[in-house]
Amino acid sequence: MSSNRQLFLRHLAQTTDSPLLLEVEKAEGIYLITPKGEKIIDLISGIAVSNLGHNHPAVVQAVKEQAEKHLHVMVYGELVQSPQVALAKALLNTLPETLNNVYFVSSGSEAVEGAVKIAKRYTGRPDVVACVDAYHGSTQGALSLSGNETLKQAYRPLIPGVKLVRFGNIDDLENITELTSAVIIEVVQGEAGVRLASDEYFKALRRRCTQKGTLLIFDEIQTGFGRTGTFWAFEQYDCIPDILLTAKGMGGGMPIGAFISKREIMYTLTNNPMLGHITTFGGHPVSAAASLATLNELRKGDLMEQVNEKSEMIFDLLNQLPLVREIRKKGLMIAVEFDSFDLLQKIIRKLLEAGVLSDWFLFCDKSMRIAPPLIITKREIEIACEKIGRILKQF
Ligand code: PMP
Repeated sequence: MSSNRQLFLRHLAQTTDSPLLLEVEKAEGIYLITPKGEKIIDLISGIAVSNLGHNHPAVVQAVKEQAEKHLHVMVYGELVQSPQVALAKALLNTLPETLNNVYFVSSGSEAVEGAVKIAKRYTGRPDVVACVDAYHGSTQGALSLSGNETLKQAYRPLIPGVKLVRFGNIDDLENITELTSAVIIEVVQGEAGVRLASDEYFKALRRRCTQKGTLLIFDEIQTGFGRTGTFWAFEQYDCIPDILLTAKGMGGGMPIGAFISKREIMYTLTNNPMLGHITTFGGHPVSAAASLATLNELRKGDLMEQVNEKSEMIFDLLNQLPLVREIRKKGLMIAVEFDSFDLLQKIIRKLLEAGVLSDWFLFCDKSMRIAPPLIITKREIEIACEKIGRILKQF
């Protein structure tokens, strides 16, 4: 009989020639648990998703309760579903009053699509400015906004009118003109390998967008829901976007995303034509219930306040290790840089054998991704870093 691994390789479309192939039976807290009962420390949270840890009891409870009431009942936007209403209210409560209207979707890429659609409609302009090494998703529109040629080149023609600027470079803001409908930007660049821009940059960006009548879109799909130590990363900068995107950590492990703006901008989807964005599963009631539970848990405890201390601790423990060239971080979004992709690949494989799951970044394959669930304890950080140290000494 074929094993699950063999069936996975035969029947599921593969995205690389060398998938990690770790078999997961259960997941709990910071651990992935294999069919043999081995506990693997998850240092990447399903790529910045399980911020509260896997299967958080409050999220599982919310999922169960909503699943017993109803699952999907209608495409987005027609019926009043209480999980969506409650989530919208709670979400908008975390935001300034200019961000007062939310459209729920199913993924990060779909949030990007919706945001760019309303920006083009609202401004009547053709172009979008994005950043070098940005990642905004894999659908054709989102891919068009990617700042990495390797990922894009095989799929042209993509959508026209995308202009790339260097992330954090104030001089490049001149490329924002009367033709620019929107600038889309990550508050902290994730897939570029945790890259930061200055306060001054974000202020200048906001000023330029306002001057030119360009909408500013913050992609907080990776940074939102507490990952950087505040509920939204943009709270740490003196800059409020016109449109905000969220997904990933938003659902606590369930699929959901959103684009958020002011009512007047969002209204472009309502008329001429109506149904300007349609989604069958957007804001799925079970995902919405899970998201509300996630939001409430994050807001109620002091988990977000602990993020920086944990981040510093990881920095201190890893920075002294051999082979580590640089560490970049914002909260629990951390990149540990090595000399080469080959070396990092070997480290990642050995770490997995030692019971720790890590990863690299799409556009920075020399850096190890460390983005553990925010609930990771100091003791667990010590254990994980000690294992990393032991592996690094083998090279
Ligand atoms: N934007 C950012 C910043 C992301 O990190 C990602 C996912 N890595 C996306 C958009 C796309 O999200 P999804 O995979 O849910 O479509």
